[in-house]
Amino acid sequence: MYGAGRLHERVEQALTILENCCLCPRRCGVNRLKGELGKCSTGRQAFVSSFGPHFGEEAPLVGSDGSGTIFFAFCNLKCCFCQNYTISQLGEGQEVEAGELAGMMLSLERKGCHNINFVSPTHVVPQILEALEIAVESGLSVPLVYNSGGYDAADTLKLLDGVFDIYMPDMKYSDEHNARRFSGIDEYPQMNRAAVKEMHRQVGDLQLDDNGVATRGLLVRHLVLPDGLAGTAEVCRFLSREISVNTYLNVMAQYHPCYRAYDVPELARSISREEFVEAIETARSCGLHRLDRIEPRPFAGVL
Ligand code: SF4
Ligand code: SF4
Repeated sequence: MYGAGRLHERVEQALTILENCCLCPRRCGVNRLKGELGKCSTGRQAFVSSFGPHFGEEAPLVGSDGSGTIFFAFCNLKCCFCQNYTISQLGEGQEVEAGELAGMMLSLERKGCHNINFVSPTHVVPQILEALEIAVESGLSVPLVYNSGGYDAADTLKLLDGVFDIYMPDMKYSDEHNARRFSGIDEYPQMNRAAVKEMHRQVGDLQLDDNGVATRGLLVRHLVLPDGLAGTAEVCRFLSREISVNTYLNVMAQYHPCYRAYDVPELARSISREEFVEAIETARSCGLHRLDRIEPRPFAGVL
Protein backbone atom coordinates (compact mmCIF):
# COMPACT_ATOMS: atom_id res chain seq x y z
CA MET A 1 0.00 0.00 0.00
CA TYR A 2 2.84 2.34 0.80
CA GLY A 3 4.60 1.72 -2.53
CA ALA A 4 1.45 2.34 -4.53
CA GLY A 5 0.71 5.59 -2.67
CA ARG A 6 -2.46 4.11 -1.20
CA LEU A 7 -1.30 4.48 2.37
CA HIS A 8 -0.95 8.20 1.79
CA GLU A 9 -4.53 8.34 0.44
CA ARG A 10 -5.76 6.61 3.60
CA VAL A 11 -3.89 9.12 5.77
CA GLU A 12 -5.62 11.99 3.96
CA GLN A 13 -9.04 10.35 4.21
CA ALA A 14 -8.61 9.62 7.89
CA LEU A 15 -7.41 13.12 8.74
CA THR A 16 -10.47 14.58 7.01
CA ILE A 17 -12.70 12.64 9.43
CA LEU A 18 -11.19 14.63 12.31
CA GLU A 19 -12.87 17.80 10.99
CA ASN A 20 -16.25 16.47 12.02
CA CYS A 21 -15.21 13.52 14.11
CA CYS A 22 -17.11 10.31 13.50
CA LEU A 23 -14.12 8.02 13.84
CA CYS A 24 -15.92 5.89 16.40
CA PRO A 25 -19.62 5.15 17.04
CA ARG A 26 -19.90 8.07 19.43
CA ARG A 27 -19.90 10.40 16.40
CA CYS A 28 -19.13 13.52 18.46
CA GLY A 29 -19.00 15.76 15.37
CA VAL A 30 -16.28 18.03 16.81
CA ASN A 31 -13.51 19.59 14.74
CA ARG A 32 -10.41 17.99 16.24
CA LEU A 33 -8.16 19.66 13.69
CA LYS A 34 -9.07 22.94 15.39
CA GLY A 35 -8.53 21.53 18.86
CA GLU A 36 -12.16 20.81 19.74
CA LEU A 37 -12.52 17.79 21.99
CA GLY A 38 -15.09 15.02 21.98
CA LYS A 39 -15.63 12.18 24.41
CA CYS A 40 -12.09 10.86 23.95
CA SER A 41 -10.54 14.21 24.98
CA THR A 42 -8.00 13.97 22.16
CA GLY A 43 -7.52 16.72 19.58
CA ARG A 44 -5.18 16.84 16.60
CA GLN A 45 -2.27 14.92 18.15
CA ALA A 46 -2.19 11.55 19.87
CA PHE A 47 -0.95 11.15 23.43
CA VAL A 48 1.25 8.19 24.34
CA SER A 49 1.46 6.95 27.89
CA SER A 50 4.26 4.41 27.41
CA PHE A 51 5.81 2.03 24.91
CA GLY A 52 8.02 -1.04 25.16
CA PRO A 53 8.25 -4.82 24.77
CA HIS A 54 5.37 -6.46 26.64
CA PHE A 55 5.31 -10.09 27.81
CA GLY A 56 1.84 -10.16 29.38
CA GLU A 57 -0.14 -10.16 26.15
CA GLU A 58 -1.64 -13.24 24.46
CA ALA A 59 0.86 -16.06 23.84
CA PRO A 60 0.91 -15.70 20.01
CA LEU A 61 1.74 -12.00 20.28
CA VAL A 62 4.46 -12.37 22.89
CA GLY A 63 6.54 -15.19 21.34
CA SER A 64 10.11 -15.11 22.63
CA ASP A 65 10.86 -11.39 22.35
CA GLY A 66 7.65 -9.67 23.33
CA SER A 67 4.89 -7.66 21.76
CA GLY A 68 5.86 -4.07 20.96
CA THR A 69 3.12 -2.19 22.76
CA ILE A 70 2.34 1.49 22.38
CA PHE A 71 -0.24 2.62 24.95
CA PHE A 72 -2.29 5.61 23.85
CA ALA A 73 -3.71 7.89 26.49
CA PHE A 74 -7.48 8.46 26.65
CA CYS A 75 -10.09 6.06 25.31
CA ASN A 76 -13.46 6.25 23.59
CA LEU A 77 -15.00 4.12 26.35
CA LYS A 78 -15.51 5.10 29.98
CA CYS A 79 -15.40 1.77 31.76
CA CYS A 80 -16.08 2.29 35.44
CA PHE A 81 -13.80 -0.68 36.24
CA CYS A 82 -10.86 0.37 34.05
CA GLN A 83 -7.59 -0.91 35.53
CA ASN A 84 -5.69 1.73 33.53
CA TYR A 85 -7.97 4.64 34.34
CA THR A 86 -5.09 7.02 34.99
CA ILE A 87 -4.20 6.53 31.32
CA SER A 88 -7.60 5.96 29.73
CA GLN A 89 -9.61 8.54 31.68
CA LEU A 90 -7.11 10.94 33.23
CA GLY A 91 -4.93 11.03 30.12
CA GLU A 92 -1.55 10.26 31.68
CA GLY A 93 0.84 10.61 28.74
CA GLN A 94 2.74 12.89 26.39
CA GLU A 95 1.54 14.50 23.19
CA VAL A 96 3.44 13.06 20.23
CA GLU A 97 4.00 14.21 16.66
CA ALA A 98 3.84 11.68 13.82
CA GLY A 99 7.63 11.46 13.58
CA GLU A 100 7.98 10.62 17.28
CA LEU A 101 5.33 7.92 17.04
CA ALA A 102 7.09 6.45 14.01
CA GLY A 103 10.35 6.47 16.00
CA MET A 104 8.69 4.43 18.77
CA MET A 105 7.56 1.81 16.26
CA LEU A 106 11.01 1.53 14.73
CA SER A 107 12.70 1.27 18.11
CA LEU A 108 10.35 -1.58 19.13
CA GLU A 109 11.15 -3.42 15.91
CA ARG A 110 14.89 -2.93 16.52
CA LYS A 111 14.46 -4.45 20.00
CA GLY A 112 13.19 -7.63 18.33
CA CYS A 113 9.48 -7.32 19.14
CA HIS A 114 7.36 -9.59 16.96
CA ASN A 115 4.77 -6.92 16.23
CA ILE A 116 3.72 -3.35 16.94
CA ASN A 117 0.71 -3.50 19.23
CA PHE A 118 -1.37 -0.29 19.28
CA VAL A 119 -3.33 -0.26 22.54
CA SER A 120 -6.53 1.87 22.51
CA PRO A 121 -6.09 2.97 18.88
CA THR A 122 -9.73 3.75 17.98
CA HIS A 123 -9.65 7.50 18.64
CA VAL A 124 -6.22 8.00 17.05
CA VAL A 125 -6.51 6.05 13.80
CA PRO A 126 -5.50 9.04 11.60
CA GLN A 127 -2.49 9.80 13.78
CA ILE A 128 -1.37 6.15 13.61
CA LEU A 129 -1.70 6.05 9.83
CA GLU A 130 0.24 9.30 9.53
CA ALA A 131 3.06 7.87 11.64
CA LEU A 132 2.99 4.55 9.80
CA GLU A 133 3.70 6.27 6.53
CA ILE A 134 6.94 7.59 8.02
CA ALA A 135 7.84 4.32 9.75
CA VAL A 136 7.20 2.16 6.71
CA GLU A 137 9.33 4.49 4.60
CA SER A 138 12.11 3.83 7.12
CA GLY A 139 11.69 0.07 6.81
CA LEU A 140 9.10 -0.98 9.42
CA SER A 141 7.95 -4.45 8.44
CA VAL A 142 6.65 -6.40 11.47
CA PRO A 143 2.89 -7.17 11.74
CA LEU A 144 0.67 -4.42 13.12
CA VAL A 145 -1.87 -5.18 15.86
CA TYR A 146 -5.06 -3.16 16.42
CA ASN A 147 -5.87 -3.71 20.10
CA SER A 148 -9.16 -1.98 20.90
CA GLY A 149 -12.10 -1.96 23.30
CA GLY A 150 -14.21 -3.11 20.36
CA TYR A 151 -16.30 0.07 20.07
CA ASP A 152 -15.10 0.72 16.53
CA ALA A 153 -16.97 2.08 13.54
CA ALA A 154 -17.00 -0.35 10.62
CA ASP A 155 -16.48 2.58 8.19
CA THR A 156 -13.29 3.60 9.95
CA LEU A 157 -12.07 0.01 9.97
CA LYS A 158 -12.48 -0.08 6.19
CA LEU A 159 -9.74 2.56 6.00
CA LEU A 160 -7.45 0.06 7.74
CA ASP A 161 -8.06 -2.76 5.27
CA GLY A 162 -4.65 -3.86 4.05
CA VAL A 163 -2.84 -1.88 6.77
CA PHE A 164 -3.36 -3.89 9.96
CA ASP A 165 -2.40 -7.56 10.00
CA ILE A 166 -3.91 -8.54 13.35
CA TYR A 167 -7.06 -7.30 15.04
CA MET A 168 -7.54 -7.83 18.77
CA PRO A 169 -10.88 -6.31 19.84
CA ASP A 170 -12.65 -6.78 23.14
CA MET A 171 -16.13 -8.18 23.15
CA LYS A 172 -17.17 -6.69 26.47
CA TYR A 173 -20.93 -6.97 26.64
CA SER A 174 -23.87 -8.67 25.01
CA ASP A 175 -26.32 -6.41 26.76
CA GLU A 176 -26.76 -2.81 25.65
CA HIS A 177 -28.02 -1.72 29.03
CA ASN A 178 -24.90 -3.02 30.81
CA ALA A 179 -22.65 -1.32 28.25
CA ARG A 180 -24.37 1.98 28.92
CA ARG A 181 -24.24 1.57 32.68
CA PHE A 182 -20.65 0.37 32.98
CA SER A 183 -18.89 2.00 30.00
CA GLY A 184 -21.14 4.94 29.09
CA ILE A 185 -21.68 3.86 25.49
CA ASP A 186 -24.75 3.26 23.33
CA GLU A 187 -25.46 0.28 21.09
CA TYR A 188 -22.24 -1.52 22.07
CA PRO A 189 -23.34 -5.05 21.09
CA GLN A 190 -24.50 -3.97 17.62
CA MET A 191 -21.45 -1.78 16.93
CA ASN A 192 -19.07 -4.32 18.41
CA ARG A 193 -20.42 -7.22 16.36
CA ALA A 194 -20.36 -5.21 13.14
CA ALA A 195 -16.75 -4.25 13.91
CA VAL A 196 -15.69 -7.83 14.64
CA LYS A 197 -17.30 -8.99 11.39
CA GLU A 198 -15.43 -6.34 9.42
CA MET A 199 -12.16 -7.22 11.14
CA HIS A 200 -12.61 -10.90 10.37
CA ARG A 201 -13.57 -10.12 6.77
CA GLN A 202 -10.24 -8.33 6.40
CA VAL A 203 -7.85 -10.74 8.08
CA GLY A 204 -9.66 -14.05 8.74
CA ASP A 205 -8.84 -16.50 11.53
CA LEU A 206 -5.57 -16.16 13.41
CA GLN A 207 -2.57 -17.59 11.57
CA LEU A 208 0.65 -18.58 13.35
CA ASP A 209 4.16 -19.16 12.04
CA ASP A 210 6.27 -22.23 12.84
CA ASN A 211 7.19 -20.73 16.21
CA GLY A 212 3.59 -20.14 17.20
CA VAL A 213 3.84 -16.39 16.66
CA ALA A 214 0.86 -14.61 15.11
CA THR A 215 1.31 -13.27 11.59
CA ARG A 216 -2.25 -12.31 10.64
CA GLY A 217 -5.84 -12.69 11.75
CA LEU A 218 -8.33 -12.06 14.52
CA LEU A 219 -7.95 -12.54 18.28
CA VAL A 220 -10.87 -11.70 20.53
CA ARG A 221 -10.69 -10.79 24.20
CA HIS A 222 -13.56 -11.31 26.57
CA LEU A 223 -13.34 -10.25 30.21
CA VAL A 224 -15.62 -12.32 32.42
CA LEU A 225 -17.60 -10.09 34.80
CA PRO A 226 -19.36 -11.11 38.03
CA ASP A 227 -22.89 -12.49 37.79
CA GLY A 228 -22.67 -13.07 34.03
CA LEU A 229 -22.80 -9.33 33.34
CA ALA A 230 -20.52 -9.60 30.30
CA GLY A 231 -22.92 -11.96 28.53
CA THR A 232 -20.31 -14.64 27.91
CA ALA A 233 -22.71 -17.19 26.39
CA GLU A 234 -24.05 -14.73 23.80
CA VAL A 235 -20.52 -13.60 22.87
CA CYS A 236 -19.41 -17.20 22.36
CA ARG A 237 -22.50 -18.07 20.34
CA PHE A 238 -21.96 -15.04 18.11
CA LEU A 239 -18.33 -15.97 17.50
CA SER A 240 -19.03 -19.59 16.70
CA ARG A 241 -22.08 -18.95 14.52
CA GLU A 242 -21.29 -15.65 12.81
CA ILE A 243 -17.50 -15.45 12.78
CA SER A 244 -15.80 -18.85 12.99
CA VAL A 245 -15.38 -21.75 15.40
CA ASN A 246 -11.66 -21.26 14.74
CA THR A 247 -11.71 -17.82 16.35
CA TYR A 248 -8.81 -17.40 18.76
CA LEU A 249 -10.38 -16.28 22.03
CA ASN A 250 -8.84 -15.06 25.26
CA VAL A 251 -11.36 -15.57 28.06
CA MET A 252 -9.95 -13.34 30.78
CA ALA A 253 -10.25 -14.09 34.49
CA GLN A 254 -8.52 -11.03 35.91
CA TYR A 255 -11.52 -8.84 36.67
CA HIS A 256 -11.22 -7.13 40.01
CA PRO A 257 -12.93 -3.97 41.14
CA CYS A 258 -11.00 -0.75 40.76
CA TYR A 259 -11.56 2.91 39.81
CA ARG A 260 -15.35 3.45 40.20
CA ALA A 261 -16.42 -0.20 40.23
CA TYR A 262 -17.21 -0.05 43.95
CA ASP A 263 -20.06 2.34 43.13
CA VAL A 264 -21.82 -0.54 41.34
CA PRO A 265 -22.77 -3.27 43.83
CA GLU A 266 -22.64 -6.09 41.23
CA LEU A 267 -19.12 -5.09 40.18
CA ALA A 268 -17.69 -4.77 43.66
CA ARG A 269 -16.08 -8.22 43.74
CA SER A 270 -13.69 -10.35 41.70
CA ILE A 271 -15.07 -13.31 39.78
CA SER A 272 -15.01 -16.72 41.39
CA ARG A 273 -13.09 -19.72 40.10
CA GLU A 274 -16.44 -21.36 39.29
CA GLU A 275 -17.51 -18.39 37.17
CA PHE A 276 -14.30 -18.60 35.16
CA VAL A 277 -14.56 -22.37 34.68
CA GLU A 278 -18.16 -21.93 33.55
CA ALA A 279 -17.08 -19.31 31.00
CA ILE A 280 -14.46 -21.67 29.57
CA GLU A 281 -16.97 -24.52 29.41
CA THR A 282 -19.43 -22.21 27.66
CA ALA A 283 -16.83 -21.31 25.03
CA ARG A 284 -16.02 -24.97 24.51
CA SER A 285 -19.66 -25.96 24.29
CA CYS A 286 -20.02 -23.45 21.45
CA GLY A 287 -17.21 -25.22 19.61
CA LEU A 288 -14.57 -22.55 20.25
CA HIS A 289 -11.39 -24.56 20.65
CA ARG A 290 -8.60 -21.97 20.32
CA LEU A 291 -8.58 -20.52 23.83
CA ASP A 292 -5.54 -18.55 24.96
CA ARG A 293 -3.43 -20.51 27.46
CA ILE A 294 -6.14 -23.18 27.82
CA GLU A 295 -5.41 -26.71 26.63
CA PRO A 296 -7.60 -27.77 23.69
CA ARG A 297 -10.07 -30.58 24.23
CA PRO A 298 -12.05 -32.52 21.63
CA PHE A 299 -15.36 -30.81 20.85
CA ALA A 300 -18.28 -32.84 22.16
CA GLY A 301 -20.96 -30.18 22.61
CA VAL A 302 -23.89 -28.93 20.58
CA LEU A 303 -23.83 -25.49 18.97
S1 SF4 B 1 -12.92 9.41 18.22
FE1 SF4 B 1 -13.31 10.76 19.99
S2 SF4 B 1 -14.12 12.67 19.16
FE2 SF4 B 1 -14.23 11.12 17.54
S3 SF4 B 1 -16.28 10.28 17.65
FE3 SF4 B 1 -14.99 8.97 18.91
S4 SF4 B 1 -15.03 9.79 21.00
FE4 SF4 B 1 -15.86 11.34 19.61
S1 SF4 C 1 -11.90 0.06 26.86
FE1 SF4 C 1 -10.21 -0.68 28.12
S2 SF4 C 1 -8.83 1.09 28.32
FE2 SF4 C 1 -10.81 1.89 27.60
S3 SF4 C 1 -11.86 2.49 29.48
FE3 SF4 C 1 -12.53 0.41 28.98
S4 SF4 C 1 -11.15 -0.95 30.16
FE4 SF4 C 1 -10.20 1.12 30.09
